[in-house]
Amino acid sequence: MSAVSKDQFNIAQVEFTSIHVRGPHKWVFVEVSDGDGHTGLAELAGSGAATEIAKLTAEYAEQLRLSPPVNEADVTPRLGLTGADLEADRAKATAVSALRTAISDAQARRDGVGLTEFLGGQPMDSVMLYGNLNRSMLPDDDGPRDRSPEAFGRAAHEAIRRGYGVVKCAPFDEVRSPFEEPGLPEAARSGIDRIAAVRDAIGPDIPLFVDCHSRFDLDSGIALEIILRESNVSWYEEAVDGIAHPEVMKRIREHATMAVAGAESGYGVALFRRIIEGGVMDVVMPDIKFCGGAGEAVEIGRVLEGIAPGSVSMHSPSGPASQLASAHVTAAFEGTRPLEHAWGEVDWRPSVLEPAERIESGRIYIPEGPGLGARLDRPTVEARGQRWTL
Ligand SMILES: [Mg+2]
Repeated sequence: MSAVSKDQFNIAQVEFTSIHVRGPHKWVFVEVSDGDGHTGLAELAGSGAATEIAKLTAEYAEQLRLSPPVNEADVTPRLGLTGADLEADRAKATAVSALRTAISDAQARRDGVGLTEFLGGQPMDSVMLYGNLNRSMLPDDDGPRDRSPEAFGRAAHEAIRRGYGVVKCAPFDEVRSPFEEPGLPEAARSGIDRIAAVRDAIGPDIPLFVDCHSRFDLDSGIALEIILRESNVSWYEEAVDGIAHPEVMKRIREHATMAVAGAESGYGVALFRRIIEGGVMDVVMPDIKFCGGAGEAVEIGRVLEGIAPGSVSMHSPSGPASQLASAHVTAAFEGTRPLEHAWGEVDWRPSVLEPAERIESGRIYIPEGPGLGARLDRPTVEARGQRWTL
């Protein structure tokens, strides 16, 4: 839990910033300031982030102006929302998560402590990452990228060159259940070839994670796991949507020899606890953009790691603000799994923050200083971003 402050957090200003990344993708940030000029930063995600979710975030901020929270954990009750409301509504969960993360950052700055410490942890200078090559394989401003097995192999080689000690890929985006025949669908063939190419490129010893983007079903998910063993895959993510279909995920896990992971869009410690205690997955992947924010993520990490060590790894195919907050969270709950980083989207990414994001040799470095330790870089926002208030 975050340090409890006796003071209310009086919201004075809420500002949004959108930065085009590449292709259809953008990063959307929200900054929340109190009357004393302490500003906290968070990210919003989702296709409606720049419009509907930003509007909902501004509406919630307006409600919190009338009923100020004492800290980030007080946001949900002040808004009259329950955990069940937020589990059921992704837009609400996203708006609440962003406000909670931003308020944590602002209050840590006010207290003059780093976010890790504010969230009850011991400061660390860096956190281990795994290198997700998926974003580097998605369309850029010139259109779709080469997604041949050879291209996946080259990207995996680049991940190793950059120093990642663990690699993840998402090779099955052509696959879509339901299927006409039992067993593995023909559409999975190219994905299996990509995995073999990635394994070839990284050698036998680097752990390889595979994300299936919920493209399979029970029968094909069990069949695929057997194939993944041939490439020594150690992490089997989202064969199916494990939040919507926990009974299917659980049955796949019962057949699996590798860690079964997922639940990246889930909200709240209660949900993640049900997943782990119910034997649905080995590893849950809370995302601070949806799970309730930085404070809730630390709670999830502490509770679940206490039940099953190694059961939490933050989901983070995110912009630099969420990446850094997720590093603080992982440090605070002393996560033993590496944190996700989706590298290779745009080469100017580090310049979005001041000081610049520092990712080297498969680790993210946490800047010294209060709160996140970094802010949005004004010259970069001026050159690349759009700012607005609601
Ligand atoms: Mg995923």
